[in-house]
Amino acid sequence: MLRRCAYFLVALTVALYLTRAGATQSAEKTKKVLLIGIDGCRPDALQRAQAPQIGALAEQGAVSYTAQNLPLRLTDVETSSGPSWSTMLSGAFPDKHGWIDDVRRRRFNGQYPHFFARLKEANPKASTVSIITWPDITQMTKGADINETVKTDEQAEKRAIEVLEKQNPDAMFVHLDHVDATGHAKGFNPESPDYIAAIKETDARVGRIVDALKKRPKYAEEDWLIMLSTDHGGHGSGHNSHRHVVPAIRLVFYIASGEAASRGVIEGQVYTADVAATALTHLGVKLDPQWKLDGVPAGLKGHPTPAVSRPNEPAATEFIKRKN
Ligand SMILES: [Zn+2]
Ligand SMILES: [Zn+2]
Repeated sequence: MLRRCAYFLVALTVALYLTRAGATQSAEKTKKVLLIGIDGCRPDALQRAQAPQIGALAEQGAVSYTAQNLPLRLTDVETSSGPSWSTMLSGAFPDKHGWIDDVRRRRFNGQYPHFFARLKEANPKASTVSIITWPDITQMTKGADINETVKTDEQAEKRAIEVLEKQNPDAMFVHLDHVDATGHAKGFNPESPDYIAAIKETDARVGRIVDALKKRPKYAEEDWLIMLSTDHGGHGSGHNSHRHVVPAIRLVFYIASGEAASRGVIEGQVYTADVAATALTHLGVKLDPQWKLDGVPAGLKGHPTPAVSRPNEPAATEFIKRKN
């Protein structure tokens, strides 16, 4: 009788444990990613602008103001929008994805696709949305469920809010261009009132998009990772450094914000290629070593900090030292 009683207790404990595990699983939130790309936004100017909305996102997550857009060893790669956005969105450096400049137009070879494509492969039902103000990116986003080009940041904001209100995106990229355009017109410079004003204006836009995200009817059941980064900084009125190492151009910011993000400044060297790797990891897509991505998860809870340098690559701390 005693033994039977013991068996009963063991069985009951196992049953209770399984029920609880099941309950936790069903209550698990749906993982989603919103990536906002602010073209041509220098990290020192972003900090100088004291942008409250972006600052709040950084506070609720992980941040690096000394991330790098492109690897130093690729001296033939132009530090312009094409090579940089394609690196961020694919997770691979330009010697792999092929988009090495916007002048001679050596373009994306498709072998290292946008992270949306990797997500779709793992989860065909996932909904992907790309809203951009620079049409060249659309060549990478052909397979997205919503793949739109708009003319102004105002239109991009409006459309992003509409999609967040009415649709159910799992991964979403919104590209804003006003900061870069202001840099070209008035100087990429933290001392420039116009450049700072453009960052503040964009910050308010980011705030309104994030507000719409938080008002989604099922927001409580969703686990959004909100990521923000830029493709390059700038120096004078441009950003094509080519062979020259200009920290003001190559240094970029990186923010991963939300419940899944770690907190504070990310130790180690972050690259924009980490955006794709981080987004996929958050979305539950296992990174296959055969993809040969250069990006690694950065600023996610439970993941180690990124290596100080990638293979054959000096860390940013090295080139800042060399240059200054
Ligand atoms: Zn750009
Ligand atoms: Zn530009």
